[in-house]
Amino acid sequence: MSERHYCDLLIIGSGIAGLSAAISARDAGLDVIVISKESDIRESNTCHAQGGIVCQGEDDSPELLTRDVVEAGDGISNPEAVRVLASEGPIAVEEFLIKKVHVPFARTEAGRFEYAQEGNHSRRRILHAMDRTGKAIEESLVARLSAMKDIRVFPGYTAIDLLTLPHHSRSPLSLYEEPTCIGAYVLNNRTEKVERIFSCCTILATGGLGRIYQHTTNPHCATGDGYAMAARAGARLINMEYVQFHPTTLFHKDADGFLISEAVRGEGGRLTTKDGSHFMEKYSPLGDLAPRDEVCRAMYEEMIKRGDSYVYLDIAGFARIDLKKRFPEIYGKCLSLGINMAKEPIPVVPAAHYSCGGVHVDVWGRTSLKNLYAAGEVSATGLHGANRLASTSLLEGLVWGLRSVRHIGEHLLREKSYKESDIPEWIYPDQEDESDPALIHQDWVSIKSTMWNYVGIIRTEKRLERATADLRYLSNRIDDFYRKSHLNPMIVSLRNGVQTAFLVASAAFRNRKSRGTHYIA
Ligand SMILES: Cc1cc2nc3c(=O)[nH]c(=O)nc-3n(C[C@H](O)[C@H](O)[C@H](O)COP(=O)(O)OP(=O)(O)OC[C@H]3O[C@@H](n4cnc5c(N)ncnc54)[C@H](O)[C@@H]3O)c2cc1C
Repeated sequence: MSERHYCDLLIIGSGIAGLSAAISARDAGLDVIVISKESDIRESNTCHAQGGIVCQGEDDSPELLTRDVVEAGDGISNPEAVRVLASEGPIAVEEFLIKKVHVPFARTEAGRFEYAQEGNHSRRRILHAMDRTGKAIEESLVARLSAMKDIRVFPGYTAIDLLTLPHHSRSPLSLYEEPTCIGAYVLNNRTEKVERIFSCCTILATGGLGRIYQHTTNPHCATGDGYAMAARAGARLINMEYVQFHPTTLFHKDADGFLISEAVRGEGGRLTTKDGSHFMEKYSPLGDLAPRDEVCRAMYEEMIKRGDSYVYLDIAGFARIDLKKRFPEIYGKCLSLGINMAKEPIPVVPAAHYSCGGVHVDVWGRTSLKNLYAAGEVSATGLHGANRLASTSLLEGLVWGLRSVRHIGEHLLREKSYKESDIPEWIYPDQEDESDPALIHQDWVSIKSTMWNYVGIIRTEKRLERATADLRYLSNRIDDFYRKSHLNPMIVSLRNGVQTAFLVASAAFRNRKSRGTHYIA
């Protein structure tokens, strides 16, 4: 018999949403299991976040934050979610991240917190730990978690599918029950065997989907697993077409989506084509300081028109400051790849950065599937509407991680509505094929280039039609491959990646109105 585990609460994912939920759930006396598909639980989008997390600045108020979030969301932010974030967010940062978890946010010489300013924020309200905010948060959460007793953390466990009733039950009577999540089938990456985790409630905190695009700022784990798992389980997803792109990531084979902060343009950096011509004035009266979306579209148009794979960001000729001092990370990274930004332009390309849509949840993190909650980037509270205000995503993960646990703690029922013997172990194929890494690699190339070229920064009806057709075909092929192969984490991610890509492409195809990050030419 394969391994089985039992808990009150299963948390899938160990970024800010998953770990805040885990710590508060354990504090509330729940029996918790946390799994992460990475062998180092810190690896997550959270750990790569640079700028900071929204709090309440000195001359700030929840009303001002609400106004900024709604403006960024282009008119379709969920007012209830914005109200919750604006009123509870700063308190959660203070009570949980600062007092309980002791995140070392930057302070002024006088010992007060240092609030940074970011684009489209009407106040200085961003707490940060220089340009390593995510790492500081993630490491503090992991330190707190490690100091807690009686919490089970399983690194190197990849969730394959949510266990649901009636779908996974052998009992015909389950059909009359409300569809319910009762845990997950998970792959132990080391043994390559599938285990079952039975839970009273489950929080999906699997982060984003950037890796379904050719260019992205997201780390390897962001293959969109949670969206695909939730969709297969029958949960409702919304706003999947709204994928935010970041204009400037370093274009280099070894840069792996390294972000070049917008502050470089703020300090005078200018975008040019490969032959050195400035182009932003043609697209916006604000030139190089136009909003993110406009800059991304202009860069993309120039690249397509000229058949170039990148443009340049030139600060060498314009900077009035010491670049090494002002941008130590960026300067160091560029130099390590042979680019001296003080002397030459930096090759850059826009990249997929953040998914505004996802698994629909209410203000308590409840999805449409009973006993399944979602928090963080995989979820769609509606906060971001059609576009995200910078530095609100870490805060959203924190607030909904904590609120989900509050709701679970108040409503937990430990009696089971099913017999465990009705829930089968994982069924392996009679004859398993070895998975061919060349096939996996090529399938990823197809997914990423389809998403980049047809479901990227500028979309058209024809491109989206082609994308949905191609991805549907690819998804069927990959599903067949998945069913016949010996399971490993790479195949699980590939299957999720193609299904999530299809979800984004088909949502974009259905929505003919340009809004926020979704632009149809
Ligand atoms: C370069 C970069 C800079 C950013 N800067 C900022 C910023 O300054 N401010 C801000 O607010 N936001 C920023 N963001 C966005 C922000 O980091 C993310 O939205 C946020 O961290 C998401 O947190 P999360 O807990 O939802 O998911 P993540 O932190 O991504 O965690 C997801 C977890 O799920 C696990 N997982 C995934 N699939 C599975 C599976 N099948 N089985 C088991 N485990 C799984 C992963 O291993 C990981 O542990 C940035 C993002 C990037 C990439």
